[in-house]
Order: sequence, then structure tokens, then C-alpha cells
Amino acid sequence: MINTIIANFKMNKTESEVKDYLMTFLPRYEGKVDLTLCLPFTALHVGRYLCQGHDIRLGAQNISDEEEGRCTGEISGRMLKDSGVDFVIVGHSERRKKFKEDSKIINKKIKSALKNGIGVILCVGESLAERNTLKTFETLRDQLESALKGLYENELERIVVAYEPIWAIGTGKTPTAKEIGQAVKEIRRVIADDFSKNASENIKVVYGGSIDSKNVKQFTGCKNLDGFLIGGACLEPNNFLKIISLC
Ligand code: PEP
Repeated sequence: MINTIIANFKMNKTESEVKDYLMTFLPRYEGKVDLTLCLPFTALHVGRYLCQGHDIRLGAQNISDEEEGRCTGEISGRMLKDSGVDFVIVGHSERRKKFKEDSKIINKKIKSALKNGIGVILCVGESLAERNTLKTFETLRDQLESALKGLYENELERIVVAYEPIWAIGTGKTPTAKEIGQAVKEIRRVIADDFSKNASENIKVVYGGSIDSKNVKQFTGCKNLDGFLIGGACLEPNNFLKIISLC
């Protein structure tokens, strides 16, 4: 059942633009879903302030894999927690590719987030080449197993898995609802194999990649899916409200 919506602002909007956005969005948001807004670091403060009293979670888009010290330009889990962050995106394909984040770094980032009391939105998904060579499931298994290595089962309660096929992100292309259902089933199978059936049923899995107000209805019927991660289409508040109202 769809009840989770995550907005990824990516590197869009200044602090004052996020303020304007929230001034439009918040009075009209009816609170019908479990909503997390993953804002740029520079807008976390205004997001925390304006979202007070609303049932909305504050998200960040990155976390250092180190705890403290000589990491110029990085933001630690402790800093995020102190800024009121509830969730952080880890393993996004843009970071895997452009910033060369490998499975070891992703695993360390997840552990640091959890250690600091921050939930994780773990992105996994295949490239077009992997899809075309029928390696989607293998890729999902590899990415999940390396990311979740060494975690205790109860820590999965603080993890949302986002199935994000790389070829669907920001391209206007999406898998079919059936294909999303199959990928989500595989994600749950990996969790069942490595943790337990109970964990596989309870872990939240969302889909991300070119969701907008025109196509979201095609996917709201996916039975094993908990929600959506939305990038480009969250950036205009009324459009985002429309998507939420359709879920
Ligand atoms: C994303 O970046 O995680 C994403 C889902 O982007 P978009 O919705 O723009 O495809």
C-alpha cells in the first residue's frame, strides 16, 4: 500500500527558495502520507523551522562515512542529527557514479547514519546495460548485500529501500508496474534470505525514477510497494501536492 513519499530536491533551490516553496506547500499539505523532504544542506535549517508542527520528516541527501575530523567539506552524522535530520539518502546512483561511492563507503555511511540515530533511504538499481543483459536481480542482490553487511535485523526498521533503475532517473522513462513489482519482490527476497521473512515483509520499499503527476497512477496499485521517491517532479509545490493527492 502506498503511504510513503520521499522528495529528493537534489542540488536545487537556495535557502530562500526552499522557504518560498514551503510557504506554498505546507498550508495545502493534508498530511495523508508519511512524507520526508530531503533538502539541500543549506536549507535544512529553514526546513526544520518551517516544518515544525507538521507531520513531516526532514531528510538530507548525503552523510560522511567518517565520524569526525579531517574530512574537509564533509558533513557527519552527528552534525545532521543535531540539525534535526531524520533520514539520509545513501547510495544514490548520482553519488555512486559521479563521486565514485563504492559498496564499502555506502556500508560505512549507513552504519554512521544508524549510529547517530538517523534513518537511511538506501537507493539500489540497475543500469540499462545490466537490464539489457538480464542482470537486474543480480545487481540488486549485490548492492543490497554489500550495503547491509554487518547490520542487525532490528536496524532494518530504520531503513527504506528505494528501487531506482538508473536509466529511469530524470529520463522520463519508467519500468512497467509489473517490472517494478518483480524488482520489489526480488529486494524482499534478498532481505528474507539474509535476515528473515518477517524483516522482508516489514521493510519499506519505494520506487524512484521519473514519477510525475501524469504517470503516478499507473504505479499506485503495486501491492508490494510502500511508496515513491520523487526527484524532478517535487520541485514545484503544487505539482508535488498533486502527486501526493493521487497516491
Ligand atoms: C531521484 O533522483 O532519486 C529521482 C527519482 O529523480 P527523478 O524523479 O527526477 O527521476
